Amino acid sequence: MIKTSRSDIVMFLIGFCSLFGGFAIAISMIMADPKCRTSFCLDKPIGSPRYYLVLVSVYVFYGYILALGAATFVIRRTHKLDTFFRRRLSLPRFGSTSRRIHFSLSIGELVFVLSAAALLLWKFAYFAQWYFRNGVTTRPGQKWAASFFNLLTHALGHPLDVFIGFVLLPVSRHSPIASFLHIPFDGALRVHRIMGYAMFVWAAIHVSSFLAKTGLNGAQTYAKVIFGIGDPFKDLHDHMQLFGFLAMLSFILGFIPALPWLRRRHFNLFYIAHAFMLVMIAFAVVHSTTNFYYAVPGVILWTADLLLRARARMANPAGETHLDRVAREECGYIRMDIQTKTPFAFTPGQYVFINIPTLSPLEYHPFSISGSTTRSDTDSVLSLLIAASWKSTEWTNKLAARFVTHTDAEAAGALHNRVDAPAVVIEGPFGHCGFDVLTGNLDVVACFVSGSGVAPAFGLAHYVAAHILADGKKAPRKVLIFWATRAPYPHRTSFIADLYALFPPGVLEFHIFDTSHKEMQVTTTHMTTDNNNKPSTTALQAAASTLSLASTKSTPSHSIRTITAPALHPGVRHTPHRMAVPTVFDQLIRPHLGPHNRIGVFICANETLRMAIRDAVYETETLGTTVLVHEETYEF
Ligand SMILES: Cc1cc2nc3c(=O)[nH]c(=O)nc-3n(C[C@H](O)[C@H](O)[C@H](O)COP(=O)(O)OP(=O)(O)OC[C@H]3O[C@@H](n4cnc5c(N)ncnc54)[C@H](O)[C@@H]3O)c2cc1C
Repeated sequence: MIKTSRSDIVMFLIGFCSLFGGFAIAISMIMADPKCRTSFCLDKPIGSPRYYLVLVSVYVFYGYILALGAATFVIRRTHKLDTFFRRRLSLPRFGSTSRRIHFSLSIGELVFVLSAAALLLWKFAYFAQWYFRNGVTTRPGQKWAASFFNLLTHALGHPLDVFIGFVLLPVSRHSPIASFLHIPFDGALRVHRIMGYAMFVWAAIHVSSFLAKTGLNGAQTYAKVIFGIGDPFKDLHDHMQLFGFLAMLSFILGFIPALPWLRRRHFNLFYIAHAFMLVMIAFAVVHSTTNFYYAVPGVILWTADLLLRARARMANPAGETHLDRVAREECGYIRMDIQTKTPFAFTPGQYVFINIPTLSPLEYHPFSISGSTTRSDTDSVLSLLIAASWKSTEWTNKLAARFVTHTDAEAAGALHNRVDAPAVVIEGPFGHCGFDVLTGNLDVVACFVSGSGVAPAFGLAHYVAAHILADGKKAPRKVLIFWATRAPYPHRTSFIADLYALFPPGVLEFHIFDTSHKEMQVTTTHMTTDNNNKPSTTALQAAASTLSLASTKSTPSHSIRTITAPALHPGVRHTPHRMAVPTVFDQLIRPHLGPHNRIGVFICANETLRMAIRDAVYETETLGTTVLVHEETYEF
C-alpha cells in the first residue's frame, strides 16, 4: 500500500483546484458571460443550439478527467490492480523471434491513450453530425465540395481544444499527476508525446481542410482570407483565420525541435523552442474560445508548479547550497557532492534538476540522486554521479573542465566550506519509483543498470541502508545490484565503498559485468555459480585475471584527474563479460526467493538489456513470484 505524505496532500489540493477550479471557470464563462471576447465563440449567444454542444462537451471532458483521476487513485492503492496497470505491454514469442515483443507503453498508459482517443473521436462525431445536419447550407454559387470542406474544417477544429487539455496536463515538474497519482515521469512524458504527435497530425488535417475549402471557394486569395489584406482591422472577429495561422505556425516552430532526432542532439534548442507551444495555445484561445475551457486545468497546474519552484528557490537560495566536491572517479564518471544546510530527503528513483549559475545561468539538468548524507545539523551532502559529455560545448563537459580537481585530497579540500564555492540551485526531488522499496513488503530488490544508469541504484541502496540504520523498518532482505559497464575500474567507484560501509553484512550484493573485456575471448556469456550460489572458481579466476589485466593496462588519459578509491570490496563480484540476464535471474536472484515472495526490479539500462530483463521478469512471474518493476530511461 502506498503511503500518503504531506506533499501528496498539497498535490491533491493543487489537483483539486486545477480540476474543479478549471471546471468552474469554464462553466461560468460559458453560462454567465454573454460577450464573445475572442475571434470565435461557438457557445455564444447563450442558449443557442451550439451553446449546448459546447456545454455538453465541457461536462464530458471534466467528467472524464475526474473519473480517470479517481480510478488511478484507487488502482494505485490496490496492489494487484497497480501491478497489472504498470505492466509494460508485450506480445508472446512467435515465429522465429527469440524473445517476447515488448512495447514502451504500460497497460495503464494504453488504457489512457485509447480512452482519450475515444473521447476525441466522440467530440469530432458529435460536432460533425450537428454541422452536417444544421450547419452552413450551400449558398447560391458555392460549390458543394467547398461547403463540405467548410463543415469538415469546423468539425475537425473542435477536438483540438481537448488535445490542448490533454497535452498540458501531464508534464509539469511539481505535478499532482506525478506525485499524488504516482505516475512515473517518463510514463507521463510518453503520453504527452503521443498526444502531442496526434494533435499535430490532427491540426495539420484541420489546416488542410481549411486550405481545400478556401481553394475550392475560389472567391478570395489565401492571403486575403488569412491575413485580411486590404480589410481594415475592425475587431478580433474578423481575424479568426489569422490567429489560426499564427497558432499553427507556433505549433510547427515548437514541434519540429521536439522530434526525437533533434531533441536528443540539440536539447537546449528543443527546450527554448517548446515555449512556442505556449504561444500556440495563446493564439489558439484567441482563434476560438473553447480552447481556453480545456486549457484552464493545465494552466493552473503550470502556475502552481512555477509558484512551488519559486518558493523552493526562496526557501533555499542559491548561496545556501554550493559545490562541496567535484571529482572524476577512476571509472570516468564525475562525483558531485553538493553541500546543503538541511538534510536532503529523497526516495528511490528520484532525481533533481541542477543549475550552477556560474556555469550557465539558465540551464537546469536532471540527475538521479545517488546518496544523501548528514554530517551535522547544518551540514549535509547530496551526491550525484554524472557522465560527462565528450563535447566541449555541453554542460556536463564544462562542469568537469571547470570544477574537477586533480587529486582526491584536492577534491576533498578544494571547495568544502569555502565562501567562494560555486552556488548550486537544486530543484526537486521529483519522480517516483514504481514500487515502494520499504513498505511494499519486498523480499528482494534487484537493480539492473548499465553505464551511468548505476546512479539511481546507488541512491536506492543508500536509501535502504539509511532506513535499516535509522529505525530498522521493514526493508528487503537483499539488495542486489547488477551493473553492466565498459568503464575502467568500475569496482573502485567511491559510492560502492560508501554503501558497503553503511549496510549490515549480507544484505548488499554488487555484481559488475565488465563489458570492456571482450578481448579476453570469453567463450560463454553465461556465468557459472557453485552450489552456494557463489560465482564458481573459474568465474572468480576469470574475474581475478581480468583485474590483474586491468591493473596492467596503460593509464587512462584522464588518470591525472582520478581519485584514489578503495580496492575491490569482498562483496563486489566482478564478471569480465556481458550480463546474461536469464542466468542472472536463475542463479543470482531466484535462490534468494521463496514461494510467494515479492521482488522489486529497478531498471536503468540500455534498450537491449531492458528487453532481456522484461523477458526474465515475465518468466519469473509465471513461476508465481510477484515482480514489481520500475524503469528509468534518463529520457526527456
Ligand atoms: C530523470 C533523469 C535522470 C538522469 N540522471 C542522470 C544521472 O544520474 N547521471 C547522469 O550522468 N545522467 C543522468 N541523466 C542524463 C543527464 O541529464 C544528461 O546526460 C545531461 O543533462 C546531459 O547534458 P549535456 O548538455 O552535458 O549533454 P548533451 O550532449 O547536450 O545531452 C545528452 C543527452 O541528455 C539530454 N539532455 C541534455 N540536456 C538536458 C536537460 N537540461 N534536461 C534533460 N535532458 C537533457 C539530451 O536529450 C541528450 O540526449 C538523467 C536524465 C534524466 C531525464
